[in-house]
Amino acid sequence: MADRYLTFTGTTPGRFLTRRLGLPQPAALKRWSPERPALEGERLLLTAGKSDLEWTDTGLGLTASAENPAAVLLDATGVRDVETLAEVHAALHPVVRSVAESGRIIVLGAPLDTADHHQAAVQQALEGFTRSLGKEIGRGRTVNLVRLTDARAAGSTLRFLLSPRSAYVSGQVIEVGAYGAGAYDAGGYDEGAYDAGGYDEGALGESALGEGVRDSGALGEGGAPVGPDRPLTDPDRPLTGRTALVTGAARGIGEAVAETLARDGARVVVLDVPQAEQDARRVADRLGGTALALDITAPDAGERIAAALPDGLDILVHNAGITRDRRLVNMPAERWSSVLDVNLASVLRTTDALLESGTLRRGGRIVATASIAGLAGNAGQTNYGASKAGVVGLVRSLAPRALAEHGVTVNAVAPGFIETRMTAAIPLIIREAGRRMNPLAQGGLPVDVAETTAWLAHPQSGAVNGQVVRVCGQSLLGA
Ligand code: NAD
Repeated sequence: MADRYLTFTGTTPGRFLTRRLGLPQPAALKRWSPERPALEGERLLLTAGKSDLEWTDTGLGLTASAENPAAVLLDATGVRDVETLAEVHAALHPVVRSVAESGRIIVLGAPLDTADHHQAAVQQALEGFTRSLGKEIGRGRTVNLVRLTDARAAGSTLRFLLSPRSAYVSGQVIEVGAYGAGAYDAGGYDEGAYDAGGYDEGALGESALGEGVRDSGALGEGGAPVGPDRPLTDPDRPLTGRTALVTGAARGIGEAVAETLARDGARVVVLDVPQAEQDARRVADRLGGTALALDITAPDAGERIAAALPDGLDILVHNAGITRDRRLVNMPAERWSSVLDVNLASVLRTTDALLESGTLRRGGRIVATASIAGLAGNAGQTNYGASKAGVVGLVRSLAPRALAEHGVTVNAVAPGFIETRMTAAIPLIIREAGRRMNPLAQGGLPVDVAETTAWLAHPQSGAVNGQVVRVCGQSLLGA
């Protein structure tokens, strides 16, 4: 469903009229394309407090000064008290106006120190700061906070946030290495995973660093390894040699996810209900993948997927989802159970089956689909909100165990208002409100969710685990 208002405000009379009337002014977001794979402009590195992070060999192309930066990275990991918090203001105040349209501000914070409530207070303050700046900065620019302890562990994350691929991700707090170096060291990057994932084994033994950080996974400029990392066989197609299964991929967000993972080199399996088999085949044929006609709520769905993938699976994307909206007073049990079954029970069942059978290989990735309705709640969606909140609970509980026991990361994307058939069915006024109620003043596109999924599925995102990342343009719902 085309956003006619966005098109209209992109014209000179449209801009004039909407400005005079004080209406929202959405900027046309710069998304990834083969012709424009990066945001043009310099990347400025600023510091607040005394940081221990090493930025010199990250390959991120950071500069110490820039006139109109495409991105600003503010290293605030060393902010430990209210005095040094003032350096956040001092660093960004003079440059914020000059950040280019659709530019990025990335604030880097440290994990909260439970033994130092002054540090915890000001590091938590960075969240309020980031989210407030995201709401006021405008012109398609985004602001996110990444908590980290090792710059190299955050390589794939920073590259994603610095790129046009993250156009609709704003106001997020992402923790890298949330389960400690030991946890991600144990998972995903052992010898077996290199073989499975097509990594260069030779690079493994060359680590100059200790075990704890060896496997943190960062990607250098043009894919060259940074510090201890292994090179990818093809940096432009980081998922080469990997198999990805996307549920509900015959259309909408799932189709875009399959397309983006295929672009990044994965062999895709397009799963959808038997009624959508023709569409699933069309998508699979276009992407050089295979279609799997299967209702994900079938009790033996996990076993049937395992049987269809005798060579194993690397990336499992739980995307299939349905809505059956009614207020609780009017909701028959059938509407409750069908939504819970597709959106949550089948996600739990298939995840268990594919982990236990070993179909999901070490180094694997699970990306589940939550929703801002699961975080904020939404009138008429007690069933849907419950199911999507359940997905968040699944991610938070399973993430550390799946990594320790299976070498698999577990994360969720939580889309906001995305332009699909699901949202096209919303009555006009509510649809228009959903679209505009975010600082970017527009809905997202399926590709925005797909790009976020591809970052989480990246072989070098092993330190990103247990995260729920909203793809919502910082929607005011549940913000
Ligand atoms: P969609 O309705 O366009 O597509 C969903 C797909 O899932 C369809 O192809 C459908 O056939 C398939 N599906 C449904 N039940 C299935 C089952 N039992 N087994 C296998 N496949 C099944 O939806 P969409 O808008 O692309 O949404 C995709 C996901 O994103 C869903 O989980 C949805 O809840 C979530 N989401 C969407 C939005 C949005 O704005 N569109 C917002 C938040 C979350």
